[in-house]
Amino acid sequence: MNYCDIKYTDMLNGQGIRVSLFVSGCSHYCKGCFNSDTWNPNYGFPFTEDIENNIINYFYKYSSSLRGLSLLGGDPTYHDNIPHLVKFLTKFKQHFPNKDIWIWSGYTWENIIQNSQRLELIKLCDVLIDGKFDIEKKDPNLKWKGSSNQRVIDIQKSLKYNSIIEKE
Ligand code: SF4
Repeated sequence: MNYCDIKYTDMLNGQGIRVSLFVSGCSHYCKGCFNSDTWNPNYGFPFTEDIENNIINYFYKYSSSLRGLSLLGGDPTYHDNIPHLVKFLTKFKQHFPNKDIWIWSGYTWENIIQNSQRLELIKLCDVLIDGKFDIEKKDPNLKWKGSSNQRVIDIQKSLKYNSIIEKE
């Protein structure tokens, strides 16, 4: 898996101060995509074990001020990214079980829960922003999402009650 950016102090992508990892690879090709370079899974840099450890060490250093980790792209749920992120998130959660994890996907919730690989990944996360970016529904005033068709979903509650529950 490749990544194109890591923002170590991000206050835009999720609640609180976060570390945001932007991975490469996306097969949604949304019109008006803000980051079309990342459609190519080979764009950017290899996400190595050293990079994983850099992120984990950063959390150890600034744990008290960091609320959690955000995964964006590209698309973290792009099929080739999933095994790498499952491995990384499993490790991350062993170190930081109380930090929350937000994930953005071009797939909808309905699609994700029918795909065992994508489901395995989002089960490790707390909040999902789902669906493709729709330029016709673009709204810069929306929080954490680019267009009004997307939803900010509380993953664990939605799985528990088998119904989409949006984050309050
Ligand atoms: S899902 Fe995101 S990265 Fe992929 S094309 Fe759509 S807006 Fe761009």
